[in-house]
Amino acid sequence: MNAVTGVKKTCFCHTCGKPFHCLGIARHVVGHHERGEDCEVTYTHGDRYHIPAPEWRKEIGRKRKKNG
Ligand SMILES: [Zn+2]
Repeated sequence: MNAVTGVKKTCFCHTCGKPFHCLGIARHVVGHHERGEDCEVTYTHGDRYHIPAPEWRKEIGRKRKKNG
């Protein structure tokens, strides 16, 4: 049985400079991508990834910025 208690915020978003729960970081990255932003995160085991937003997301982000 896996106890989920005592889980710390072991992931880190370098784009925001904030720590995140390992179960919440994936959702957080999606949030960046939805705004057309690239994201750089470190996961639980210390592996760091730069995750660029898909081009079509960036395009939407640029359009949104133009519209205010
Ligand atoms: Zn972030």
